[in-house]
Amino acid sequence: MKAQPTASHFIDGAYAEDTAGATIEVIYPATGEVIAVLHEATPALVDRALASAARAQTAWAATRPVERARILRRAADIIRERNPDLARLETLDTGKPLQETLVADWPSGADALEYFAGLAPTVVGQTIPLGRDFVYTLREALGVCVGIGAWNYPSQIACWKSAPALAFGNAMVFKPSEVTPLGALQLAEIFVEAGLPPGLFNVVQGRGGVGAALATDSRVAKVSLTGSVPTGRKVYAAAAAGVRHVTMELGGKSPLIVFDDASVEDAVGAAMLGNFYSAGQVCSNGTRVFVQKGIKDRFLDRLAARTAKILLGDPLDDATQMGPLVSAVQLDKVLGYIATAKSEGARLITGGGRAALNSGYYVQPTVFADVTDAMTLAREEVFGPVMAVLDFDSEDEVISRANDTEFGLAAGVFTADLTRGHRVIGQLQAGTCWINAYNLTPVEAPFGGSKQSGVGRENGHAAVEHYTQVKSVYVGMGPVDAPY
Ligand code: NDP
Repeated sequence: MKAQPTASHFIDGAYAEDTAGATIEVIYPATGEVIAVLHEATPALVDRALASAARAQTAWAATRPVERARILRRAADIIRERNPDLARLETLDTGKPLQETLVADWPSGADALEYFAGLAPTVVGQTIPLGRDFVYTLREALGVCVGIGAWNYPSQIACWKSAPALAFGNAMVFKPSEVTPLGALQLAEIFVEAGLPPGLFNVVQGRGGVGAALATDSRVAKVSLTGSVPTGRKVYAAAAAGVRHVTMELGGKSPLIVFDDASVEDAVGAAMLGNFYSAGQVCSNGTRVFVQKGIKDRFLDRLAARTAKILLGDPLDDATQMGPLVSAVQLDKVLGYIATAKSEGARLITGGGRAALNSGYYVQPTVFADVTDAMTLAREEVFGPVMAVLDFDSEDEVISRANDTEFGLAAGVFTADLTRGHRVIGQLQAGTCWINAYNLTPVEAPFGGSKQSGVGRENGHAAVEHYTQVKSVYVGMGPVDAPY
């Protein structure tokens, strides 16, 4: 199986290569096979990417918003037409099953392009009357934005960052995770085909060092990172040195609270989606499932029965419901967390080990019950198919325990009592919440975290604030009244 791109990078409207850069092997996680070999961007290529973005951005910002919108909408149409091929490539890059990549990854990227195309012409300023004089405001582009992506939703992340950036007149230089570098190159090709002028969306490959070079360059106005909290701290600090704008979409350890009166089937289904989709490699997952004691046994019975039926297998097989983890590194990390959970006394309900399938990085969907707040499994982000079920008695107790974490990305509540649903969500410290649903992230809704889980928001109208800045213009309509 091969998925070798034309070249490693995409700069100024064309593929670019410099074999002096360190090699990056792209591995198909279902078999361990090398499917492509790329090179990290050298400093000269990073410079070219930023220079071409800076050149192109000025004219783009001066382009009518409806024209920018038309190009983004065309890109969305091309993505939808090619979705089967793009989904297959996403599956090779990430190991996620076609059942997911066909409906979630590129389709949600196309949604973002369409949504921000729609918003582009609606971005307007204000007029502020001051008697004789007045002030008007303009919402202007920031300039060159850098996007740095995680490996779990590589193409969605590239679209979620580039769509608002481009819609509002910015250019973007995007660095995918070196683990999943292929999708962003496809997006760059599609943008050119849709009519985007060269330089406005450049892709440079590399590890953290390339990301750091981008985040500290004086030509860069904004850095948007999706990644872990430790990386977020580093990138935030690097951006701060240049007083750059940031959006930080970081990790989580989100609570999903199930009250006694909830529908067991719905709550179990949501907990499974919020722990096993993408083999658990989703930042907003509800990995601390708090179940009220009265419903606990029924919840665990149905959870065990339904989890046992999850079909692991070849991600390219339409029937497969769960694929491997993204890499050998991630496999080791997740198996380590499972071993720690066992040694700390969590009760294994199902799963609990590696799944022997080819030589891929598969882990069985795993559920632990009787998890307590102090256990490592309840405190650290695992990023694998490992669910922790905790018990609780009262509403006040569960709210305080749910909030007892450095993270604040997401939270969910299942209850038939809607008053309670709103009351509880109102007290949870999290940026993205659900009542009687979990992990649905339509582009219309702002997405992001509080506390250590991040700053800024992606998607929704909120993104306008994060990819534009206000210019305030005072207009004097009479003589200047100077005292000297
Ligand atoms: P990492 O934090 O390891 O990496 C994120 C990106 O940052 C990668 O492209 C990485 O490059 C790059 N990077 C690493 N060091 C630096 C640096 N010093 N300066 C600039 N860039 C750097 O995250 P993962 O890729 O492992 O992704 C998993 C994490 O992402 C999880 O914590 C998850 O919760 C979070 N995430 C958050 C989401 C959200 O929206 N809140 C959504 C999805 C994931 P490379 O890896 O190539 O070295």
